Amino acid sequence: MRHDCSTVIFHCIDFRFAADIKAYLEDENLLGDIDVVSIAGCVKNLVDPAKETDAEFVMRQLDISKRLHGVGRVVLMNHLDCGAYGGRKAFASAADEHARHADDLEKAKAMILAKYPDLEVQNVLAHIGDDAAIRFERLERALA
Ligand SMILES: [Zn+2]
Repeated sequence: MRHDCSTVIFHCIDFRFAADIKAYLEDENLLGDIDVVSIAGCVKNLVDPAKETDAEFVMRQLDISKRLHGVGRVVLMNHLDCGAYGGRKAFASAADEHARHADDLEKAKAMILAKYPDLEVQNVLAHIGDDAAIRFERLERALA
């Protein structure tokens, strides 16, 4: 029996975001209609992998989700203050940190579209405030 869902999301393992990600998916009407892949550093594994095989691993998860569940959309969700990137302190400024994540998300999107041009890819950056409040920024950027 085939069972389909609309979307697959890739996000980081960071527990601080878990409850808010669930609420976000609920708001987007995606709970129960989404495959969830949780990997430390999220798209860093595609664009700047610690080991070469990390990128293959991520792509394989996408391939499986597409093949078994017929997903048509991918959500790539990085977050600020990510330990896999060295945290907030690894960046000279908040603008630098934001730019790095936006760039990595855009590169990852391009990698996915190069292999699966029929997929829709949505980039989201999760922000965390000093008070641990989470908010989600949908990144829309014209392709260069
Ligand atoms: Zn993280």
